[in-house]
Amino acid sequence: MGSPGAQQQDVVVIGAGMAGLLAAAALARDGRTVTLLDRDDLPDGPEPRPGVPQGRQPHLLLHRGLRAIEDLLPGFGDNLRAAGAVPVDTGDLAWLSAAGWTPTVREVEVLLATRPLLEHRLRQCVLALPGVRVVGNQRVTGLRRGGPGEPRWWVDAATAGWSDGPGAGPADDAGTRAWPAHLVVDASGRASRLPTWLDGLGLPAAQVEELDARVGYATVRVRLPADRVGARGVVLLQLPGQGGGLALPTEDGWWTVTGIGAGEQRPPRDLPGLRTFLAGLRDDALARVAAAGPLDGDVATHRQTGNRRHRYDRLPGWPDGLLVVGDALFALDPVYGQGITVAALEAQRLRRADAREPLGGDGAAARVVRDCARLAELPWQMATSADRELAGLPRSRAPLSVLSGWWIAELGRLTAHGDTVAQVAMSRVYQLLDPPTTLFHPRLVARWLRARARGYGAPVPRPVLLPDEVPGVGVVGGGR
Ligand SMILES: Cc1cc2nc3c(=O)[nH]c(=O)nc-3n(C[C@H](O)[C@H](O)[C@H](O)COP(=O)(O)OP(=O)(O)OC[C@H]3O[C@@H](n4cnc5c(N)ncnc54)[C@H](O)[C@@H]3O)c2cc1C
Repeated sequence: MGSPGAQQQDVVVIGAGMAGLLAAAALARDGRTVTLLDRDDLPDGPEPRPGVPQGRQPHLLLHRGLRAIEDLLPGFGDNLRAAGAVPVDTGDLAWLSAAGWTPTVREVEVLLATRPLLEHRLRQCVLALPGVRVVGNQRVTGLRRGGPGEPRWWVDAATAGWSDGPGAGPADDAGTRAWPAHLVVDASGRASRLPTWLDGLGLPAAQVEELDARVGYATVRVRLPADRVGARGVVLLQLPGQGGGLALPTEDGWWTVTGIGAGEQRPPRDLPGLRTFLAGLRDDALARVAAAGPLDGDVATHRQTGNRRHRYDRLPGWPDGLLVVGDALFALDPVYGQGITVAALEAQRLRRADAREPLGGDGAAARVVRDCARLAELPWQMATSADRELAGLPRSRAPLSVLSGWWIAELGRLTAHGDTVAQVAMSRVYQLLDPPTTLFHPRLVARWLRARARGYGAPVPRPVLLPDEVPGVGVVGGGR
């Protein structure tokens, strides 16, 4: 595809969320039209929309994801910062792990912003690329193979008073439209209907793996200057049988304060209930932040958080010219903040594959789907092994898993006693920057042996998070 002199190629991307936009950025090039179809009427500015029901929940962009997006869209990070996204070094977050508070240390930058802002800025950058357009009010209802002399695919969409960009024709009387495509990318998220469409194409059902710890989010927005809280953000790690949560600043002078819990520990949907939930956590920091300023609107809740992957990579006879990315392929429990980063890494793989071979060619799409499945294996393992415990399922008894679980808990204990080397190593794995094998580096083993022999030292004190907290009183332990 896209070779000099070749005819214009039509790529249709189903879904203009984060994964769809990133796939479009990866595939945009001369000689190609990339059309993103979305069921929503997409807003002109950074506004929540129905197709992204998680839009009012906190979203952070991991460092690895930021780097991957920068690779596709140079300058994106600066663009987002200029729009007010809050850059935060993860070592400056007040982080309460299972073992205790972690030390302040230079780690890596993540960007904090509302989901509408992230998506709006990404959409602007992608639409500035040649040949890319987005068409709202197009709910894709089906996928058909083209007949002889026709394009490879027809993508059927139901329209509702649709408006669109240049080059699109009118909808027919029934309010439907068929979009021709040489290459189709399904990026319609958790709501993807690809299994039904594949069935219609005569393919067997792909295996689906699921692990749903029934994690729920409940979020309020609090008006507070970013520097009012004595840390760049607060994270209380959710533990089996106990809730957790976070408080993070966003671009517009607000903080999002979120309670997170699994199963019976899910936070309630009403404000008094959420306040009680936050006050009952291992530390009352989030309750205090939520009470420190005026609130904006209601409690926003979200409970569609299960891990689910479709094993399209194992499906025999995967159709040429069809790709699938983002949550439509792998949806992860959002607690680990990896979804957009995985979508960005997949987009990088698309771009690489596109440079290597015609993506519509024999077996090329199947190779990309397998490649994406491989890259998501690690985030999947990280999310599901932690969620097994949250779901109350028995731990894996595989020796390697038992050893890793024990070792990570030991490293956690080191960090809670101020070991910044262990802290940075763990953070880099969590940020998908280093492989988990780095956690077994002899240097870390040596530090653990030293702590065992000579003692762990004092635990990291709780940071002072709000001005009215007095070091040494109650849960308040000291400054950092
Ligand atoms: C509560 C919560 C918090 C999260 N926090 C983070 C975080 O901090 N960091 C992070 O990296 N990730 C986070 N995520 C995950 C992140 O939101 C997703 O992984 C990411 O948005 C995936 O993008 P996507 O494009 O695959 O799906 P989505 O962003 O959901 O987009 C799907 C798009 O497809 C459209 N669509 C659906 N069906 C159709 C159809 N039939 N026809 C046309 N269009 C259709 C929708 O309108 C939507 O625009 C969070 C998720 C949740 C639920």
